[in-house]
Amino acid sequence: MKTRMFTAKCSQCGHRFRAYTRAGLLSNIREHMWKYHRKWMLARMKAGRLAGTADNPTVGMVLTAIAQGLPVALALIRLLRKPRWDKLEVAVSSFEPYMKPEHREIWQSIKAVKNIDIRRR
Ligand SMILES: [Zn+2]
Repeated sequence: MKTRMFTAKCSQCGHRFRAYTRAGLLSNIREHMWKYHRKWMLARMKAGRLAGTADNPTVGMVLTAIAQGLPVALALIRLLRKPRWDKLEVAVSSFEPYMKPEHREIWQSIKAVKNIDIRRR
């Protein structure tokens, strides 16, 4: 039986992508875009995506997720790569003094989990 593959084409250079999963395809595309079309990506982000996305959450998104509980917050943060996570960690940590104690605890747990994840890579 033939396995169905997900395919896509780069809008900038026409490079073709293939992957067995949608998530795999998206991550390949993201990697390619940052590697070969960094300027275009930055311009595109500047052009009005300040609201944040699932893989580039804002501090506000993280704080909201923390308020919803550990599983929600962890799901949001789990897939972030190191450079983004580093920035976000600093930014969210600056809100720590203003967090409710139970939210601060959740944030501490997230940091612990995330730092273990990063070390394994
Ligand atoms: Zn390309």
